[in-house]
Amino acid sequence: MSSKPSSEFPFSPPAPDSPANHNPDGTSLFLPRDDLNTLIGKLTADGYQVVGPRLEQEAIIYGEISGADDLPIGWTDLQEAGKYRLQPRGDQAFFGYTVGPHSWKKFLFPPVAVVATAERDGTGWKLDTPDAEPPKYAFLGVRACELAAIKVQDRVFLGGPYTDPIYQKRRNAAFIIAVNCTQAASTCFCTSMNTGPRCTAGFDLALTEISDGFLLEIGSAAGNAVASGLSLQPASDEQSGRGESARQQAVSQISKHMDTTDIRDLLMGNLQHPRWDDVANRCLSCTNCTMVCPTCFCSSVKDVSDLTGDHIDRERRWDSCFNMDFSYMNGAPVRNSIHSRYRQWMTHKLASWHDQFGSSGCVGCGRCITWCPTGIDLTEEVAAIRSSPSSGRSERPPISDAEVSAT
Ligand code: SF4
Ligand code: SF4
Repeated sequence: MSSKPSSEFPFSPPAPDSPANHNPDGTSLFLPRDDLNTLIGKLTADGYQVVGPRLEQEAIIYGEISGADDLPIGWTDLQEAGKYRLQPRGDQAFFGYTVGPHSWKKFLFPPVAVVATAERDGTGWKLDTPDAEPPKYAFLGVRACELAAIKVQDRVFLGGPYTDPIYQKRRNAAFIIAVNCTQAASTCFCTSMNTGPRCTAGFDLALTEISDGFLLEIGSAAGNAVASGLSLQPASDEQSGRGESARQQAVSQISKHMDTTDIRDLLMGNLQHPRWDDVANRCLSCTNCTMVCPTCFCSSVKDVSDLTGDHIDRERRWDSCFNMDFSYMNGAPVRNSIHSRYRQWMTHKLASWHDQFGSSGCVGCGRCITWCPTGIDLTEEVAAIRSSPSSGRSERPPISDAEVSAT
């Protein structure tokens, strides 16, 4: 990380009456269905690597696309706690699914990044810091909860006294095309976290899919420049109405709820609650929830030598607070039990994140619920603690002798 302080986040959307906005009077613009390919082609011609949803390994993941035919046309995802499967929709929708196992963090905060190299040159070691330019990404299909997750990671990587140069370069160059959800999974709870399902800020362009095309909103000067190269038309009242109905459908399908009232104090005041033992009996400490979470940012660093021993890469890799070694200090892991690791994850995400970053670390995307092999649902864990809170504030217990000797 560089020591350059960050004063503001990129991509503040223009004011509604900004000349950057094509539709300042609130009327929508319409992009015909066949012109989605033109948009992808224009971004590619402008030097962007376009990434978006595609079908792979029986899931909808995010990867490089070269045209609209690469999108998961006509497919949707069915999600429940611990379950995910694809099925045909019976129509030709491009974005008729919710969210999959990937998130955009894999492009902004890569799972593996070389942060330094060392080369033996006969007289000693030559140390270097890689500074190759990353791809200029255009993200197609960013949901409202994912815009919120990017904003959370902006605070983590850019908002403190130190900024992460790997994240910063990628973030500054990224072009974001949001897509409003028109359906919700049973695991979604963005309405509880005030993050969706409507995309309201943090995008360059935003689309709402209807059968014959897209309603299009412009959120930045860069978005305006791209939109000016498209054959846009004013949306008719009928098209705008269909778009609103489609967005409302997603709202009406959200059934999961998390009561966030005083959630920080609720969780920090119940660190000894018996529910932590209960969830520890179900949790496998597999790390899935942290890998799929769009806001989790834990990493570790290790040096990797080639076989000659003359070249060493210092790699930063995604890590997880569910790994026992992640808290290894002074000869022992601080969090030696699944009980302590699950509690660390959930209390950080929903409680101490507020102290650290001024917001929740959860955007309600539901991925950790879907991709947990035992179907653990953090909204149920919060509800269980809320329904029978311990009396009075409890503090984190000291590490027990049993935990230490077990190492
Ligand atoms: S904690 Fe779960 S629901 Fe919240 S942002 Fe992370 S993956 Fe999504
Ligand atoms: S809560 Fe579920 S996904 Fe997370 S570590 Fe435990 S078993 Fe794995």
